Amino acid sequence: MSISVLTQKLLAINELKKFHQDLIEDDFSGLLYATFLHQKENWGMLSEGWKGFHSSKYKHYDFDWPATKGVVSHKWFGIKAQFNPTRFISSSAKVDTETIQNRKCFLCLNNLPEEQRGVLFEDQLIVLCNPAPIFNEHFTISHIEHKPQSILTNINLMMRLTKATGGDYSIFYNGPNCGASAPDHFHFQACPANELPAENDIIHHPEKFRILFSDEQFSVSVSENYLRNIIIIKSKTIDSTVKVFNSIYQLLQEINRISSEPMMNLLTFLNEEEFYLVIFPREKHRPDVYFAEGEERMLVSPGLVDMAGILVTPLQKDFDKMNNELIEKIYGEASLEQKKFNTLIDMISK
Ligand SMILES: [Zn+2]
Repeated sequence: MSISVLTQKLLAINELKKFHQDLIEDDFSGLLYATFLHQKENWGMLSEGWKGFHSSKYKHYDFDWPATKGVVSHKWFGIKAQFNPTRFISSSAKVDTETIQNRKCFLCLNNLPEEQRGVLFEDQLIVLCNPAPIFNEHFTISHIEHKPQSILTNINLMMRLTKATGGDYSIFYNGPNCGASAPDHFHFQACPANELPAENDIIHHPEKFRILFSDEQFSVSVSENYLRNIIIIKSKTIDSTVKVFNSIYQLLQEINRISSEPMMNLLTFLNEEEFYLVIFPREKHRPDVYFAEGEERMLVSPGLVDMAGILVTPLQKDFDKMNNELIEKIYGEASLEQKKFNTLIDMISK
């Protein structure tokens, strides 16, 4: 990547001010919002994708699992299905090594469509608009160099990015084998805060999660009866968040008996000056229904967005078919299996 290629891809503050008059250079979330407005106006592929997103259909499913017999249950969390045909390419993407090696990387600056431009973060990441959005504003925040998707050395960067958005946006990460459609090019994604159901569940229903550890610095809690097995690190500082994450990463390696990156999706956000890092450890990338034959087959390919409560279905037939039992099955297969999760809980509690 040459400096001149990078320069061509960056939006100048004056270009952005046309869309956001009061914008100042160190207002990072203002820069994101202005980038979105600029790109929607100037990049045809995004304005098409954005219209596609706005014609998405939704269905809502309430859960209180397991339902208690004879008791009128208070449905405390919900899952949405989003029928969004513009997601077809991403959900059906082949992500095997050979396919990846033989395709042109769509996150490399050299290969971006001419109109696709963005803003820099810490001279190493570029914030770009996702042309097939799942949210009104949906960003891909990719490295300016072509290097593999990997979290261990980048978790601090993820937390700094979270801090820079000042609570306006949530940041997420899909591991190379569980949701990233460019496993060979390092990237995060971002969406407006409070859009993901899991984020609201965690903030508004802390009593539904079991605290394993808590002191003045940080706390660690886990889900119970939430369909997905998740770990929540909550802290006032980036340093302690990163330290706890590193320990859990190691435990996940031990449990899975691997030395590579354990399959996971991550969600980070700021709420009332506290950092949240939510780990969704994974067992499988794609559920059995993805590989089923004929009518049984469903195009669902869960990444963080799906795991956090918005199941994206690019095909109408899958959207029509979705129901509580299928959601339970998809999450059950995609999440770290219960036995391993119980072992992890024991290890963290020690
Ligand atoms: Zn690349």
